[in-house]
Amino acid sequence: MAFIQSQRNRILPYIISCGLVFLTTLFGELVKKRLEPTNIVMFYLLAVVFVAIRWGRGPAIATSIISVLVFDFFLVPPYLTFSVNHIQYVFTFVAFLVVGIVVSTFASKVREQIIQRQTEKLQTALLNSISHDLKTPLVSITGALTALLDRKSSLDAQHIRELSETALGESDRLNRIVNNLLDMTKMESGVLRISKKPCDLRDLMGACLEQLKDKIGARDIKIDIPKDFPEIAVDFPFILKAFFNVIDNALKYSPDGSPVEIRATFVQRKVQVKIQDYGLGISREDLKRIFEKFYRVERSQNVLGTGLGLCISKGIIEAHGGEISVESTPGKGSTFTVELPLE
Ligand code: ADP
Repeated sequence: MAFIQSQRNRILPYIISCGLVFLTTLFGELVKKRLEPTNIVMFYLLAVVFVAIRWGRGPAIATSIISVLVFDFFLVPPYLTFSVNHIQYVFTFVAFLVVGIVVSTFASKVREQIIQRQTEKLQTALLNSISHDLKTPLVSITGALTALLDRKSSLDAQHIRELSETALGESDRLNRIVNNLLDMTKMESGVLRISKKPCDLRDLMGACLEQLKDKIGARDIKIDIPKDFPEIAVDFPFILKAFFNVIDNALKYSPDGSPVEIRATFVQRKVQVKIQDYGLGISREDLKRIFEKFYRVERSQNVLGTGLGLCISKGIIEAHGGEISVESTPGKGSTFTVELPLE
């Protein structure tokens, strides 16, 4: 699915470029009585520059070639044929192609530089964020293990158990962060392969809550899945991760005593799962951004996290042809809705 998506992303600029050439030709048709064809060429060049800046060299060169052909066919007399009256037009075509290719090369170089600078900035932000997130559990693990190995201190059994549990819990967290980062990289490079198999939503939720059992503790998790619920076709481990992140957030961003509710319904060959909490809630401005990579709400900085969870969930759910959305009232709680197609 993600692979198809990346293919589609590659073809889209070419389709849009054709659309731009079409619009320029339409405009040329309107003004061809008043403007010389050699002037109309300038508008095609504008389209080439735009495409080059937006999508780089390949689509820009394609735009140049299509422009010359369409321009000749529709706007150079004799119309609706590729033949030309004056040799001058052949020079125009050649000049256009050369200028088009040179402009494409320059514009795409500028574009690459801009992208590289943005990537560098993002990488620094990413590195800062990751190194902090990786360091925190590592410091705890090292602390716990050092205390355990300290021969001078005589630890009682209870204390040893607590320290071991800390080390284990933090290793688990570290493992999750690294896995999240790997998933993110896989998603971005388009190698996330989804393999769907029929699965029971109850089993899925059961597995998810099992993984979260330590965090759930004594908290009240209400599950409402109708008895005749149909099987859904999903990639079990991936969709498990997607739900894990959402339910984990519901627990993280709500007070200990409050319940978390999971309700499932199916309508018109679609499955809808709602995860509702009665916690912090999310402000209107943050709602727009919480699915972005590394985005964390200012207020939740005291809660551990990387800002990757929801972005990964969204990627996985969309790779299944589904959608994830959220409604929230600050101070009252949030409801995340996951929609998945039945097949
Ligand atoms: P994080 O690792 O920070 O939890 P996520 O991508 O999972 O990253 O979430 C992004 C941000 O969205 C979080 O930092 C948090 O502020 C906000 N958020 C996510 N889920 C909830 C929720 N159920 N209630 C309140 N805020 C939430």
